[in-house]
Amino acid sequence: MNKNDLSFTGEILHTPFSKPDAYGALSMPVYQNVAYEFNTAEEMEAAFLGKSAENTYSRITNPTVQYFENRVQKITGALSVTALNSGMAAISNSIITLAQTGSNIVTSKHLFGNTYSFFASTMASFAVETRFCDLTNPDEVESRIDANTCAIFLEIITNPQMEVADLMALSIISKQKGVPLVADTTIIPFCSFKAKDWGINIEIVSSTKYVSGGATSLGGLIIDYGNFGWISSPKLHSMAKEFGTAAFTLKLRKEIHRNLGAYMTPQVAYLQSLGLETLTLRYERATTSCWHLVKRLEILPEVESINYTGITCNPFYKLSTQQFGSHPGAMFTFNLASREACFSFLNKLKLVKRATNLFDNKTLAIHPASTIFGTFSQDVRHEMHVSGKTIRISVGLEDFEDLFVDIKQAIS
Ligand SMILES: *Cc1c(COP(=O)(O)O)cnc(C)c1O
Repeated sequence: MNKNDLSFTGEILHTPFSKPDAYGALSMPVYQNVAYEFNTAEEMEAAFLGKSAENTYSRITNPTVQYFENRVQKITGALSVTALNSGMAAISNSIITLAQTGSNIVTSKHLFGNTYSFFASTMASFAVETRFCDLTNPDEVESRIDANTCAIFLEIITNPQMEVADLMALSIISKQKGVPLVADTTIIPFCSFKAKDWGINIEIVSSTKYVSGGATSLGGLIIDYGNFGWISSPKLHSMAKEFGTAAFTLKLRKEIHRNLGAYMTPQVAYLQSLGLETLTLRYERATTSCWHLVKRLEILPEVESINYTGITCNPFYKLSTQQFGSHPGAMFTFNLASREACFSFLNKLKLVKRATNLFDNKTLAIHPASTIFGTFSQDVRHEMHVSGKTIRISVGLEDFEDLFVDIKQAIS
């Protein structure tokens, strides 16, 4: 079989080590070390100056982490992949690579809680402005961009609002305005959604979720597709003159990621490489169950409304199906009559776990307003459209019939 014809899982399983292991180990060993020994001072100098690709120190590179990065690079066709120790580290490292004092970021208020806080508080304290707008309205997005805009940032399906932006429309604006499109794709993994085909320049993934293989570890990925001309970026302009489309990766790898010190650890890279091997199988199983579960729950009288972009009554159904296929992820939300009804539902669950996190192998339920968004003011929650009547479910690998029985008894 031609190596080029391998499917996602085949490609993942057969990505070779960049250097053979001394013992021929069939899975990538965990190189649980900090430093690397050199034969000569000259070789050491070359490695430190970046004139050779040898490792020097595991905050910067490590063979096990590089193996994980290479696997992701192979199947995404990216220019570079950087693995960090959480999804938030991937977001903060990529934004700090792009932004400087006086920059602004165009995004929506429909964001993961810590991402919102990172923009609204952390970046604001360095005089980086965040312009919150409606990303489903391309004209509004366009009107908020100016010469200091360093990124359009979005989540491909927002959580818990389940909003879907038109990626083609945003990518056209991104190209016209010379502003990179940075997307958090955690909700739909790269085995199913090809970010590059939708004009995304920098893809960010919390690999804690689907990739880790059952909530084994925290992790994050920055995937640079090398498809943006950084000459228009105020911060990367001079690097772009010298390094072209590699400017972002070079700034990230030679400066930001070293200085922030949030590189993935070897043990985690090992676990998440294993997670990649079963990603397609788990994703297909969980999303199929999710779809069936939504169809069964949507008709229950206690369920006031149900929010999943893979059902025809959802306002984003058409766009979601075009962009993400018929089973868009394994997370959905539904509304009950009141906050009290939500708490009572959670307390009656027997199989489904009361826990945060997404895409564990186990099915999880949470009341976002009182937990993830619990410390936000009522006003901010209102602006973010986080309702006190909403329950979020992340569907795992159980049989969906068992899940339906548990959820139904807890609702009634
Ligand atoms: C969980 C999550 C994050 C943060 O990831 P961590 O690995 O927990 O830091 C960011 N974005 C989205 C969409 C998430 O679901």
